This record gives sequence, C-alpha cells and structure tokens, in this order.
Amino acid sequence: MPKHAILAQCLDATLRRTQALLSVRQWAGVVVLGLCGVAAFGLAPDTTLETVPTRVVTRTLPLPSLAAEAPAPEERFWREERIQRGDTVGSVLARVGVDDPSAMAFLRTDPAARPLYQLRPGKPLRVETDDAGRLLQLRFATGGGDLLTIAREGDDWVASTQPAPVDVQWRMASGEIRSSLFGAADAAGVPDAVTLQLADVFAGDIDFFKDLKRGDRFTVVYEVRHLDGEVQGAGRIVAAEFVNGGKRFRAFLWRGEDGSDSYYADDGSPLRKAFLRSPMEFSRITSGFSNARFHPILQVTRAHRGTDYAAPVGTPIRATGSGKVLVAGRQGGYGNVIHVQHAGGFSTVYAHLSRFAPQVKTGARVSQGEVIGHVGQTGWATGPHLHYEFRVGGEARDPQTIALPSGAPLPATERVAFAAGIAPAAAQILLAQSLSGLRIATGP
Ligand SMILES: [Zn+2]
Repeated sequence: MPKHAILAQCLDATLRRTQALLSVRQWAGVVVLGLCGVAAFGLAPDTTLETVPTRVVTRTLPLPSLAAEAPAPEERFWREERIQRGDTVGSVLARVGVDDPSAMAFLRTDPAARPLYQLRPGKPLRVETDDAGRLLQLRFATGGGDLLTIAREGDDWVASTQPAPVDVQWRMASGEIRSSLFGAADAAGVPDAVTLQLADVFAGDIDFFKDLKRGDRFTVVYEVRHLDGEVQGAGRIVAAEFVNGGKRFRAFLWRGEDGSDSYYADDGSPLRKAFLRSPMEFSRITSGFSNARFHPILQVTRAHRGTDYAAPVGTPIRATGSGKVLVAGRQGGYGNVIHVQHAGGFSTVYAHLSRFAPQVKTGARVSQGEVIGHVGQTGWATGPHLHYEFRVGGEARDPQTIALPSGAPLPATERVAFAAGIAPAAAQILLAQSLSGLRIATGP
C-alpha cells in the first residue's frame, strides 16, 4: 500500500477516534500538533540516513518482566519497525498493526512522548501489542542516547527514560588498493573515520601520500557502536594489517600497564615513531593525488636533497615530529619556509609554503602531526608543491635509509599477556582475509 494511503487511512481513523474521545480543548491541541501527527511528528528536513555501512545484526530484545503485571490471557507481541523517510509515529504504528486511539492520544499530547517528535529514518521503533492491536509498550532510543519507554499501566500511560545500553561489536574489512586508499576503503564499506585512523596508525611506517602502490592491501578490525540495536557509528581500530610494496605491517590496540591505549606490532614494538613518514596530511583530497604529474625539473636539480610532494595550493602540511620552530619566514629559493629542530640532532624543513599556521612563529613548540602551514609555490618552485627535508646534524638525509628513534617496546613481563590479548583480533584479520580472498602469502 502506498504511504499516502496509510496516512489517509490513519488520518481518517484518528479523526473518528479523537472526536469520540477528546474534549474540545484537547481536540484543538491535536489540530495544532498536526492531524495524525503528520506535522508534529514529521522529520526534520536535515535528517539523514546513517552513513556507516553495517552488517545486519540480529539481537534478542531483553523481554520486559511480565510477571509483575496481571496474568495476561491475550497474546503479546513485540514488533520492531524501522522509521522511513516521511514517517510519523502514527504511520509507523499503523504499519505494525497498532489500532489504539487512547495510545495515540497520549503519544501526541504528553510532553513525555516528545522525543518521538524527532523520528530519524533508519531508527527502530519497538512496540508491544496484544492480539487486538492494543499498544502495551513502546520503546525508542532518543537522539540523546536514552531509551524512552512508554508503557500502559491499567488505563494510564507511564513514560520513563533510562540510559540505553551501548553495545560494541567488531566489524572487519579487507581491501586492495587500485587507485587510492579511500577508493579501496569505500569499496570495502569502511567509513572515512576508520580510513583516516588506518593512515594514522601506520603513519610512522608508511607515507600514505607517496608510497602507496597499486596492489597494496589492508585488513582492518574496528569497533562499531550500537545503541539499543541501532548503529551509532564506528569506533576505534582494534587491529589492522597493511601490506605496502610487499612489506607487511601490523598493528594491535593494547592497553599498557600505565593505562594508556596504543598500537603495537606483533612483537610488541610501538607503532608510534618519533617521526611521521609523510608531512602531508592524509585526507580524501590528498588520497590518490597523482605525484606522477609533478613537474620534473626540480627532481633532477643536483642540489636537491629533499622530497617533493606535489599537491594543490592550500593542502595542509604537518610537522613530522615534535620540536621547536627555528625559522618560520622567507628564505631565497625556499620561499616561505619552516625549520623545526627536534631532539637527537634531527631537524626538518618545509619549503615553498603559501602560508604558515598562525601559531607557527620562531621559537614556538610544535607537536607531531600538528598542521604548521599550507602548500604553495613561493621561492624557486615551478608548480605548487612541498619541498621537505629531513636533516641529521644539519645535513639533508633520506629518512628511509637511516634508523629513526622510536619508543620503547612493551616490557618482557607484558609480552605474554599481549600475545594472548591480541589473539582474537589477529584471528579476525585472518578470517577477513580468507573471506575476501585477499590472503596471499607475503614476506614476514
Ligand atoms: Zn624539492
């Protein structure tokens, strides 16, 4: 039956019932609120569907304690109905077969039922009815994270709210990169928040701007939060594997004895390094940006001792390590340039910037990952790009070829617990790979 037909039927039925049941004053209230709740329970225009792709999760509802209530000779049914675009409480209840004017009157007029005015498509509404279509109980997770219960008690209605239980489940996904990481993540149904985390987790090992290759593969296990059975969004990455240019990296989330959560490789070494591999902030925009079309002239300059990242003017640039700003200003061929001094005799240089981040002044402290400026083509630059240098003792070096400082591995006393603790997530990675057909033998 088309929706407008349900609404029309609902409207018609409601009119008859409300006329019979309500006083003139209440009747006026119903009119103001909108007949059959069409206006009052209507959807906000900017409501959107949940964008996080999910598997269908079937969950057994905790049944209400029926024992305390009068012995019910009639059958009782729990039904769940997903709210559709354009729905009202009336139309949802009509779909599940509720035929109950007194319930509708309460839902429309009582302030306790107000959260029902914000129906969002995709959210579930659960109702318990008897076999005559009388509403006994209604449950709805509000936008504020509460579970609203409206229950019949004799001839009255009682509304109550309590925090809805949040239930965290794992979702796993696996993908192969053909054009960009975001492209592969989209194909695997991985939400953007998780893709960005993935790039962040491996930022000490992989330059996601420059080093990704066609055929690179990832597998990720991440949390998905459910509130009363409804998906609320993606949480943290629990475990991940990335095969970049045939080299395999793995990360497992682990709570250390100091209580902080960090990512560690299988052998207990920390993923977080003193330097990020890439000064380019990873985003959907920079993902897959082709460096192949960068002007080759600078690449062959003999004096060239850095790495060039072609990117649109304005692309954010981040400090690869924490340190102190030695220079933030204009310097000949470098144009607008930032020199950052790090511990251990390391320094980094970011040149040709269009502008500096406001907090970046000579002498200022910057943190790893902090945006310090934006791509430009100031100085001797034939096109917009970042010229990045990694220096040791003042001399430009290739950071890929020298041993970079990294944090301490997990202490030996923690290794056994770590190995046991990550086993379920490691098993999920293998399972995801075998399910996706991406399990291919790689190096250690
Ligand atoms: Zn350069």
